[in-house]
Amino acid sequence: MKNRDNSLIEDFALIHDGRCILKTGTWSELKNAFSGEVEDLGEVTLVPGLINAHVHLELSHLRGKTVQEKGFTGWIKSLLSNPLYDLDTEAVRNAVQEMRDSGTAFCVDISTRNCAQVASVLDELGMGFYACCEAIGVQTPKEKAKFFPQKEFEYGRAAGSGHSLYSTGAGLLQRVKKANDAAGLPFPIHLAENAEEDEIVAHGTGEFAGMLKGAGLLADCGNKGLRPVEYAEKLGLLDEYTLAVHCVRVAEEDISTLLERKVNVCLCPRSNTYIGEGRAPWELILKSGINTCLGTDSIASNHDLSMWNELEYLLKNIKISLSSAEALALVTTNSARALRIDESYGSLEKGKRAVYTTVPARLEDLLF
Ligand SMILES: [Zn+2]
Repeated sequence: MKNRDNSLIEDFALIHDGRCILKTGTWSELKNAFSGEVEDLGEVTLVPGLINAHVHLELSHLRGKTVQEKGFTGWIKSLLSNPLYDLDTEAVRNAVQEMRDSGTAFCVDISTRNCAQVASVLDELGMGFYACCEAIGVQTPKEKAKFFPQKEFEYGRAAGSGHSLYSTGAGLLQRVKKANDAAGLPFPIHLAENAEEDEIVAHGTGEFAGMLKGAGLLADCGNKGLRPVEYAEKLGLLDEYTLAVHCVRVAEEDISTLLERKVNVCLCPRSNTYIGEGRAPWELILKSGINTCLGTDSIASNHDLSMWNELEYLLKNIKISLSSAEALALVTTNSARALRIDESYGSLEKGKRAVYTTVPARLEDLLF
């Protein structure tokens, strides 16, 4: 188990009541005063339950139903040939179970049509969550519009999110951001994901722009030649509550802007590869000091929803070396900070949720 200063603690033990951590220490210290049931996990590295900062559980029925490495336009065409929003609750339940079995304790789900239903499944299964209702389209929201269900859940909260700069009108994005701000919620948005987005934001052109226009979903980004991060900055969408998802196509100036604005970045390395969008400048983003975390994205653009597999892929392909603490932070402490859930998640300390997992044997060598 890792300490707050990221040193490994030998003989670590924690006492919990099934819900919360009551005490932590070494087993030698704690055992004399303890009389309850004991679970010895053996020679393992215990870590806090992992956080998946970006997933779309609504698409859980689409495993293996999309093309790989054909670029975003090719991928979206294959995605749209499926029944997208016919929610398969059983598939969602299985996906949540899969996440839990691979160590995930909290996720940020983005659903376009089925936010409340997905939230109910997450709640029922005890997975911590933000269930985000994704705003998409160019309509001007009504004065008193609500952007997410005003409903209480036991294990999570509903929130709003923006699909993207190119598919969600500027006014709508700003309103959703404001509603989330007022509720103290993070604001996730797909940002700088691919070349198609670059072209639409800068010039409003391209095959994908035509597809969006046909569906009534093409946002007017001004055609001023701006890069996505520049445009998002101009709209006032970037601050410490923003979770910028992907950031594949960011210039060095964009990285500086994201850092200055204290934006949190969620990288989805395997999804970007699956779609064939290239990859984010992980090294520059991480070295800049931007608070960075990881997400799997949906099963329609990934092979599974395991955060260990996401981290393993990054570690095997990144060109700088990360300490074990820096690597684990991408799926624990950084994510908890980005999402403002560090009171309950991200580390194994008294008062936090008793959710933990162990480092898989195959990752021990990569991490330590
Ligand atoms: Zn996504």
